[in-house]
Amino acid sequence: MSDLRFVSTRGGAPPVALSDAIAQGLAPDGGLYIPSALPSVSPGDFTGLATLPQIARAALRGFVAGDRLQPLLGEIADAALDLAAPTTAVTACEDPLFALELYHGPTAAFKDFGARFLAESLQRIQPPASQPLTILVATSGDTGGAVAAAFHRRPWVRVVILYPAGLVSPRQEQQLTCWGDNVSSLRVAGNFDDCQRLVKEAFGDPALGVQHRFSSANSINIGRLLPQMVYYVASSLEVERRTRAKASYIIPAGNLGNAFAAVWARALGFPIARIILAHNINRTVPDFLKTGVWQPRPSIATLASAMDVGNPSNMERIRALYPHMEEMRQQLSAQSVDDATIRARIGEDFMQYGREWCPHTATAAEVYARLSAAERHDHPWVVVSTAHPAKFNEIVEPIIGKPVAVPESLDRLLHLPRHALDVPPTLEALAAAIE
Ligand SMILES: *Cc1c(COP(=O)(O)O)cnc(C)c1O
Repeated sequence: MSDLRFVSTRGGAPPVALSDAIAQGLAPDGGLYIPSALPSVSPGDFTGLATLPQIARAALRGFVAGDRLQPLLGEIADAALDLAAPTTAVTACEDPLFALELYHGPTAAFKDFGARFLAESLQRIQPPASQPLTILVATSGDTGGAVAAAFHRRPWVRVVILYPAGLVSPRQEQQLTCWGDNVSSLRVAGNFDDCQRLVKEAFGDPALGVQHRFSSANSINIGRLLPQMVYYVASSLEVERRTRAKASYIIPAGNLGNAFAAVWARALGFPIARIILAHNINRTVPDFLKTGVWQPRPSIATLASAMDVGNPSNMERIRALYPHMEEMRQQLSAQSVDDATIRARIGEDFMQYGREWCPHTATAAEVYARLSAAERHDHPWVVVSTAHPAKFNEIVEPIIGKPVAVPESLDRLLHLPRHALDVPPTLEALAAAIE
């Protein structure tokens, strides 16, 4: 297998090996790293593979070809992806509906897959005896907890989480602030856009750059996208085995990292038919697909807060894959769901299917409910369940009228003491806090 190089979506940076793309996060020209060509895989090679680490070895082999991570892929996958990601039946009627449950990891949202794989990869590409890495992570709720869990107590790294005060759920906040040791949590008096801007300013600040070796763990990092592809490979092969048909996925989308992983899995040849993006009322992507005009805007707070993104960064990767609007429209569609409809869908699907959806998953369930009978009949459909409803109990419980059972790993975190520092949304405050 020949060596694969990674290039910037903006075309202005030299091609690099995978481990360099992971270590850098963002390409030096401001673009995002993508492989120069999609490696070839043959879905037939996956017969008999059952666990995610086994499937990761086969699916990611071409992406690590020629890189120093190549001989380490197996151990990285074993350590990072030993998590359940079952595709379960929601209805067993003749037009089957499934849920891809991505919330069985330590922080009960799909971000665990990417964060753990990134941590295991970065650990193996650290220069020996170097200054510890400082990972700055702006979070709208779930990324920060997943990154903290994945990097907690690793001596070569320090994690600084920035989250918007009052804009994350109480249990998300608990998961952002319960770590201590090498993890610090900053409660920023501002919104998610302010947190993201502060991280960018810190990265660009020459004085801070001398004192700290910064890195990012946001979903611009290709080390988070590759492992997310693995559960789509596993799920699509499983649905094909069970139904003899290609699955279509409806994906709750914010920054489009999870969706892009599905798009890649399909481009590699795995049995995926349609992909529909379910957004909340942050409608930058649905409007773009409709009008052809890319118009990022400030984010609006919604019940599905981890999807409150007005300028989804991974669109740049999707546009690199589908440079022509017509092709993109054939490959992807997108819809927007408002908060009242999210609430109604949580209630309705609890009654109809006995399923408890988190508000993010409910956007995808709503898009499924809007499909025509013919569309439902065309393919088996999979609603991607991105977080456990227990993380959003204050929203879900009053609607379904009963408590949501808390998974054991989440319950443990809920009982740890919190530490957070309140900071105003300025670079000076961030600089002082990380001293
Ligand atoms: C992050 C997140 C999303 C959005 O995923 P993207 O990869 O940013 O599109 C959806 N649901 C939940 C629960 C999340 O945490």
